[in-house]
Amino acid sequence: MAAPTDPRVLVINSGSSSLKFQLLAPADGTVEATGIVERVGQDRGNASITAGDRESTFEGPVPDHKEAMKIVERLFGDVGLSLADDRIRAVGHRVVQGGARYSQPVLIDEQVRWDIHDLGKLAPLHNYAAVDGIDGAQALLPEVPHVAVFDTAFFTALPDAAANYALNRELAKQYRVRRYGAHGTSHQFVSEAVSSHLAAQGRDVSALRQVVLHLGNGASASAVRGGEAMETSMGLTPLEGLVMGTRTGDIDPSIYIHLHRQAGFGAEEIDDVLNKRSGMMGMCGMNDFRDITAAVDAGDEAATLAMDVYVHRLRKYLGSYSFVLGGLDVIAFTAGIGENVPMVRERLLTGLEGFGIELDLEANAARSKEMRVISAPGSKVTVMIVPTDEELSIARQAAEVAREIAG
Ligand code: ADP
Repeated sequence: MAAPTDPRVLVINSGSSSLKFQLLAPADGTVEATGIVERVGQDRGNASITAGDRESTFEGPVPDHKEAMKIVERLFGDVGLSLADDRIRAVGHRVVQGGARYSQPVLIDEQVRWDIHDLGKLAPLHNYAAVDGIDGAQALLPEVPHVAVFDTAFFTALPDAAANYALNRELAKQYRVRRYGAHGTSHQFVSEAVSSHLAAQGRDVSALRQVVLHLGNGASASAVRGGEAMETSMGLTPLEGLVMGTRTGDIDPSIYIHLHRQAGFGAEEIDDVLNKRSGMMGMCGMNDFRDITAAVDAGDEAATLAMDVYVHRLRKYLGSYSFVLGGLDVIAFTAGIGENVPMVRERLLTGLEGFGIELDLEANAARSKEMRVISAPGSKVTVMIVPTDEELSIARQAAEVAREIAG
C-alpha cells in the first residue's frame, strides 16, 4: 500500500462518449479514486466517483469532454480530494491514435496537441475527445506535466510486411492508410508481465514467442517476439480482426458495396452496422458473455452459433500468428472475456494438443483475479491469464516522462 504522501498520477481516458479517470500511485498501483463521466455530448449525462468508502454521483448535461473534466473536479471535492493536491505529479492521457510517429509517451506541448487533433482524421470518435479532455485537464491542473500515452505506440515498430495493406501505394501514402493497431498499452503490459513472470522462473525470454489475446468488448490479438510486436489484428481502425461485442471484425470489404447497392445504405449507415449492430450483439442479441454463456448452456441456437463464430475467428488468428512467429511459447489471455470466461478459453484450445497446447481444465475453470498459468504441467506452450491494467501502465509511463523532464 502506497504511503499517503507518495506521488500520485491522474489518468484520463477520454472515450467517444465517456471520460474515465483514476487517481493512483504509480509505485504500487494503489487506487485512491476512480470514476467515470458518461453520455458526454448529451443533455442527460451522469458521473460517479469512488474513493475508498466515499462515493458521489452527478446527473446533468455534459456538453463535451472539457466540461466533463469540470465535473471530475467537482466529484473530487465531494469525496474530500482535490485536483490541486501537490502529490499529483503528472496527468496521463490515453490517446487512441498516435499515427506512425508516436512510438513513446510524450509530454503534451502545442505541437503534440495539434498532432493529436490532426490524427483525428484517422480516429474521429476518439482523438477529438482526447484533445478536449487534455484542454479541460490542463485548465484545471496547469502546473503539472500532461503526458500522452498512445494506444498505437507498441505497434509503430511492426515489420513493414505486417503494417502495410496491399492497397494502391499512392493512395495508402496520401491518406495514411496502414495497420496502426490498438489496445497497445494492454498488449505491451501483458506481454511484459508474462516475460517477467517466466524470467523469474529462470526461462530465457529474449526471443519468447507470445500470442496475446485481449478479449474485452473491443478485442484484439497480437504476436510478440522478445518483447517486440510482430503482428496485431486491429488495423487502420479498431474494426478489423476478431469478432467483438458489437463489431464484425474481419469482413469481406465488398460487403460494404453490397450493402450500399442492395440495401441502399450510405457511408454512415454502413459504419453504424459494422461497428455498433454486428459482432456478438448483431448475431445473437447479446454482448455480455455472462448472458451469452448462459444462453449457450441453455441450448440457444443463435448464441451457440455466435460463440462458434467467435471461437473460430480466434483459432484462425492463433494459428496464423503461430506461423508468423515461427512457433509458439505462450498464449496470454486478458481483458473482461479473456480473464473471466472459461468457456471461450476451453473451446479455443481443446484439440490443439498436437501443437503442444494442453489446457489444465481445472485451472481454466478456477476463478481468480491473479496472474496465473492454466496450461497442464507437460504443455509445451504455456497458457496464462494476465489481468490487464491499462491505467497503471499509463500512470507509470506518465510518471516516467514527468521524472525525465524534471531532470
Ligand atoms: P472494454 O474495456 O472493451 O469495455 P472489458 O475488458 O471491460 O471491455 O470487458 C467487458 C466484457 O467482458 C463484458 O461485456 C463481458 O462480456 C465480459 N465480462 C466481464 N466480466 C465477466 C464475467 N465475470 N463473466 C463473464 N464475462 C465477463
